[in-house]
Amino acid sequence: MIDDLSTGSIANIEHLKGRAGFRYSIAGIEDEPLLAELVDGADVVFHLAAAVGVRLIVESPVRTIETNITGTERVLRLAAKKGKRVVLASTSEVYGKTAKVPFSEDDDLVLGPTTKGRWSYACSKAIDEFLALSYWKERRLPTTVVRLFNTVGPRQVGRYGMVVPRFVQQALAGGPITVYGDGEQSRCFGYVGDVVGALAALAVHEGAVGQVFNVGNDEEVTINGLAERVRRRTGCPVPIVHVPYEEAYEAGFEDMQRRVPDLRKVRDLIGYRPTHDLDRILDRVIEHFRRAAP
Ligand code: UDP
Repeated sequence: MIDDLSTGSIANIEHLKGRAGFRYSIAGIEDEPLLAELVDGADVVFHLAAAVGVRLIVESPVRTIETNITGTERVLRLAAKKGKRVVLASTSEVYGKTAKVPFSEDDDLVLGPTTKGRWSYACSKAIDEFLALSYWKERRLPTTVVRLFNTVGPRQVGRYGMVVPRFVQQALAGGPITVYGDGEQSRCFGYVGDVVGALAALAVHEGAVGQVFNVGNDEEVTINGLAERVRRRTGCPVPIVHVPYEEAYEAGFEDMQRRVPDLRKVRDLIGYRPTHDLDRILDRVIEHFRRAAP
């Protein structure tokens, strides 16, 4: 495992440190000699290193674009040298603002203009997808692209904008819960344990090579609905306030209204079934923050 801890935390792998066969390096994927060594020693490369969180992306677009494109290009090039299988984590963000719901893997991507910084993330991840699929088509490097839909669970932090840990922490701290925009935008939240299981299964399935898969959960909830649900499950009747997008992000910010995955492809190939619905996910996240509280 290689992680520069830019958005992660070493405490998250504390329980794995003593496990046989587990090794980790605190470094960035720009450390090419180290990356080459790690790719050499691996059977499969799970490439999850990318800029994370819409807030971070709006604040640091240059870093986002560079990290996503240069990093992926490097990982694929090194993997290709050794013929190592690669699973690339992409994002539901690539579907952009398409009105067609649910999103299927072969749908058109509908992105906003280049003057709106948010879309640079989708665009950079779309380039990553093209690269991974091209390495398969042109160089026979076995690659698989996985589009993740709002992956959540214990240990995720709210610092980079992720709504579930933010709402839970806000509720436990006495509120208010900050809903951006009118709150009628919706999302589907996938449990991290389900997502990891899917990544592992796709990595060893021949039928996944050269393919793109949606992975997550298809239970849709509006952000207003999520705020209500967090109040109920925490038992904290805190106020809910609405914050205009331009205050939360930047002037002219465009959100995605609905984002729902069509999960048929991954279900048909590996029998993928989410084990955690939203209530169960929220209970786990709430339990995590309650336990972490001093
Ligand atoms: N959001 C919100 N309040 C917050 C953080 C996020 O209302 O404190 C909204 C955000 O505007 C978006 C949704 O929750 O519509 C999901 O945001 P997140 O950053 O978790 O993921 P995204 O789907 O934007 O990648």
